[in-house]
Amino acid sequence: MSSNLPPEDEILDSSLRPKNWADYVGQEKIKENIKVIIDAAKQRGQSPDHLLLYGNSGLGKTTLAQLVALEMGKKIRITSGPAIERAGDLAAILTNLQEGDVLFLDEIHRMHKSIEEYIYPAMEDYKLNLILGKGPMARTMELKLPRFTLIGATTRPGLLSTPLRNRFGGTFQLNFYKPEDIEKIVERSARLLQIQIEPEAIKIIAKRSRFTPRVANRLLKRVRDFAQVKNHGIVTSEIAKLALDSLEVDHQGLEPGDIKILLALIEKFDGGPVGLQSLAAAALEEEDTILDLYEPYLMQMGFIERTPRGRVASKLAYEHLGIKYTKTNTFI
Ligand code: ADP
Repeated sequence: MSSNLPPEDEILDSSLRPKNWADYVGQEKIKENIKVIIDAAKQRGQSPDHLLLYGNSGLGKTTLAQLVALEMGKKIRITSGPAIERAGDLAAILTNLQEGDVLFLDEIHRMHKSIEEYIYPAMEDYKLNLILGKGPMARTMELKLPRFTLIGATTRPGLLSTPLRNRFGGTFQLNFYKPEDIEKIVERSARLLQIQIEPEAIKIIAKRSRFTPRVANRLLKRVRDFAQVKNHGIVTSEIAKLALDSLEVDHQGLEPGDIKILLALIEKFDGGPVGLQSLAAAALEEEDTILDLYEPYLMQMGFIERTPRGRVASKLAYEHLGIKYTKTNTFI
């Protein structure tokens, strides 16, 4: 979700963004499938099917979309669901596309419902039916659009309506990366940013990166700052640890926000089960932030489990926080 990032992160994202398949580490199955879709489209002289990419922020959805455009030799236009407020906004974007271009629609689950009916004919028949005027004087105008590939990205596929979901020719879920893949990404980024870094420091950064490339790059950059001030720019394992500790990223990649959620769950609800709404209120967080930002990683690490009766903190979570686990009625 590059559109919501602080400017510094956005610059970092674009400077480190892989520009070819070889540099796009991991997600092998998805790469393979998308390459086939592209090759087939090229052979037919058409643009690839519309694609839906879902997965957490920072896992590489925008990057994948850019690679599709690059492979097709076409341009990419990036926008996001909430940015399209009126049919006219959509018309302006679509009519400005060139034949075969890629339109990347981030946070597609946040697109206004009223826009959906315009997007269906655009996706299916490359036309846009605009209504001009109001009341009895209203008339429709049909605009012909260039053929394009819509790549939708979302962290919450469940919030997409079924008709919208069904209009994508391919749907791909990006998963958390394997630790060794994150290590490769940190190594590549260090090379590109000309950072001197010890192999052990790469491992330390990767381990605290929430299995997420964007986080890995962000932490690497912070660690570099530390090294510059404290160690002539050389990133040793000691410097990496020191920097990450002082940034309050713990050895399992948990940050203060994660700890706050776990503590609320354990201290205020005796470890759960508790509903999302109550947890959010107790932790003073937005429900969406818990769902999108914290919970996926906490679940991946086995600290939180979702049960039909609500969220539950695992024994691991207690141990991680150094709190005695006394529960006998385990839900895990
Ligand atoms: P999303 O769109 O899912 O939020 P991005 O595509 O913007 O994520 O990726 C964030 C950053 O992480 C990119 O700038 C890129 O540098 C890095 N990145 C993402 N996926 C990969 C990958 N598979 N290999 C290497 N770097 C990656």
